[in-house]
Amino acid sequence: MCALALGRQGIPALVLEAEPALTHDLRAGSYHPATLDLMEPFGITQRMLEEGIRVRHWQIRDRVGELVAEFDLGLLAQDTRHPYRLHLEQHRLTPIQLALIRQETQAEVRFGCSVTGIEQRPDRVVVQFESKNGPQRLDAAWLIGADGGRSTVRKSLGIEFEGFTWPEQFLVVSTPHDFAQHGFTMNAYVADPAEWVALFKMPDAGPPGLWRIVFPTVENEDAVILAADNVERRMQNFVPRRVPYDVRYKSVYRVHQRVCTTFRAGRVLLAGDAAHINNPLGAFGLNSGLHDAINLAEKLGRVWRGEGDGGLLDLYARQRRAAAVEQAQSMSIRNKRQLEERDSGAQRARLRELMAIAADPVRAREYLLETSMISGLQQSFAVR
Ligand SMILES: Cc1cc2nc3c(=O)[nH]c(=O)nc-3n(C[C@H](O)[C@H](O)[C@H](O)COP(=O)(O)OP(=O)(O)OC[C@H]3O[C@@H](n4cnc5c(N)ncnc54)[C@H](O)[C@@H]3O)c2cc1C
Repeated sequence: MCALALGRQGIPALVLEAEPALTHDLRAGSYHPATLDLMEPFGITQRMLEEGIRVRHWQIRDRVGELVAEFDLGLLAQDTRHPYRLHLEQHRLTPIQLALIRQETQAEVRFGCSVTGIEQRPDRVVVQFESKNGPQRLDAAWLIGADGGRSTVRKSLGIEFEGFTWPEQFLVVSTPHDFAQHGFTMNAYVADPAEWVALFKMPDAGPPGLWRIVFPTVENEDAVILAADNVERRMQNFVPRRVPYDVRYKSVYRVHQRVCTTFRAGRVLLAGDAAHINNPLGAFGLNSGLHDAINLAEKLGRVWRGEGDGGLLDLYARQRRAAAVEQAQSMSIRNKRQLEERDSGAQRARLRELMAIAADPVRAREYLLETSMISGLQQSFAVR
């Protein structure tokens, strides 16, 4: 996203990507209205809409299967050009971006190049990397570390990644079984103190698509968590059926809540998971990374053209760190705690509150502006 947004301004950009090609793994896949609006001027959203699933309604349910609240993103019709969530696997977004980079910009993407270290100089950054030709170095005016949660760039700078790791892992299971027949909307959250569940309908290879189910899991060994009988037990406990589930994909991953202490050190900027990571409840991780990239490329473009100084980049760091801490972190932690609330009185009170919000169009719109990242994005731009 950074390379496309810089390249579209005519700024020479080079991406060093460690993998030999775009990856095809199960990660994020739910895009909020604010993100769809931001990506539209780059021609990305239009292409995503051809392949993705528009999800206008989402639900909160309780574990006995009762619907607690259903929210209609159509209430945001005056606030966004995209009043729905769009579900599309992350590995189907990246080919769209890469094609646009190659068609419309001079930016270059070099696969199989793994950054190993950096050195900051007053006028440039020296980047060391490994490729099939062995160790290499290059000089860059600026460097964006968008190299994921284990960021080599962040570690090279010695920037702390403050926060914590949840004790449980998340198990993700995909099946073609149609949960709409049980009353679920294509995005739904089921509250339960022992075993909350999140559902997302994903397009996969096209209709009928796959339902992706996320469970918390306390076991430590991935092999035990992913064993066929364990996965089947979790699915049957959730929605029993007479025949076994057809499981197409399953994965397990550890979940963290961390934000780096600064998004800028001299000529190096951090963005995306390299700068902040959170649990996926609410789908804020990839969305906020895309918000970082677009904010940063706009400011870096101005600095490049001599329209502003490094103060603009400090502003990027303040705006996007505030968004990470005050929105993505706080909302994703709140969402998880709400789903897993053990105090039944507190759980009932919170679910009643959500019911009241959903029933009142004014409050529901406010709630949707927040959970769709629209008001948060506006607040982040107000940070000075
Ligand atoms: C296993 C997993 C499952 C997830 N599931 C969900 C989910 O269900 N829902 C959700 O909302 N979010 C999920 N996320 C989070 C979401 O996928 C991330 O927020 C998003 O991928 C962040 O994008 P990014 O580009 O910042 O980082 P990444 O997608 O991690 O991309 C970083 C890139 O940098 C490359 N790289 C790393 N180190 C180097 C180096 N030294 N040199 C060169 N290149 C390097 C990597 O190969 C990678 O291509 C998941 C994340 C993971 C890891």
